[in-house]
Amino acid sequence: MQDTYRREINYLRVSITDRCNLRCIYCMPPEGVRWTPHSEILRLEEIETIVRAAALTGIKKIRLTGGEPLVRKGLEGLVRQISNIPGIDDIALTTNGLLMTACAGKLKEAGLRRVNISLDTLKEDRYRQITRIGDLSAAWEGIQSALDAGLHPVKLNTVVIRGFNDDEVAAVARLTLDRPLHVRFIELMPVGSSDSWAAGRFVPAGEIMDALSVGLGRLHPAKQPAGGGPAKYYRLKDAQGTIGFITAMSDHFCHKCNRLRLTATGGLRPCLYDEREIDLKNPLRQGAGHREIINLITDAVAIKPVQHHMLDGWQDERRVMSQLGG
Ligand code: SAM
Ligand code: SF4
Repeated sequence: MQDTYRREINYLRVSITDRCNLRCIYCMPPEGVRWTPHSEILRLEEIETIVRAAALTGIKKIRLTGGEPLVRKGLEGLVRQISNIPGIDDIALTTNGLLMTACAGKLKEAGLRRVNISLDTLKEDRYRQITRIGDLSAAWEGIQSALDAGLHPVKLNTVVIRGFNDDEVAAVARLTLDRPLHVRFIELMPVGSSDSWAAGRFVPAGEIMDALSVGLGRLHPAKQPAGGGPAKYYRLKDAQGTIGFITAMSDHFCHKCNRLRLTATGGLRPCLYDEREIDLKNPLRQGAGHREIINLITDAVAIKPVQHHMLDGWQDERRVMSQLGG
């Protein structure tokens, strides 16, 4: 389906839970978030119904995210159901990877194609600091198990934060040399009530690229790995993987945005940075059928803004990234 600005909307990101086994400082406030009661979270069958309706509007690609999607029971069954929906040709997952080892093979077998794993640092103490409670070795095991299970591509999401991990960008980029890992450097975004956001913490992608070129030599423009999305990709000489840059702030890609987001509580958001959302949960629970859900999806597409307003300093204090589905 095309929106008002003639963008083809074919990608739905689905937050399947607001819960998480980590408390990343840029994602959750220090006091943690109050988990939403289970009754307000979409049931897996409801998610499936929405995806089925979305597929009829032209959605082809689904990304399951959260919160931490691997903490939600029944994920494997959901992946299997979604992979059987006609029209859906790609299912991906964004995870912190900590629980991946136990389920990578089963998820692949259920129909998951590829995975993005968040990894902001290669140092144990910093990993603990940024996630507040995480164990780096468990994240590494998760990454390895995704590679072993044949999920492809495996991308690593690294949010770059000045004064925290900006001295590690070359080391993270080097991971692409001898493994088929695709690193994506993400600009820190002023979303939610995260305590770490301050303009001074932001590192523009151009600066990361300059640092990489100085430390590692020329970056060669590269073909996008599958599901490339808005990142621009490069490759180090002879590297197995690629290096991407997600420039949501310094060079936004709204003109080619193809996505909608479904929150864990059933709100359909046309834009991550726009507080408007169309409620699908209550209509569903009141018996809405496919036709009505399709109409609501069409309404959400119709109000998709031309671009985000993050640079104006707008912040959604009421919801943090873990609840929106990053
Ligand atoms: N728990 C999963 C994970 O960490 O990958 C999925 C949800 S998480 C909200 C999705 C992505 O959003 C992660 O890669 C995370 O680093 C990113 N993220 C969260 N808050 C962010 C912020 N303020 N700026 C940029 N990226 C952010
Ligand atoms: Fe959890 Fe992901 Fe947010 Fe970290 S970024 S707190 S892992 S939802």
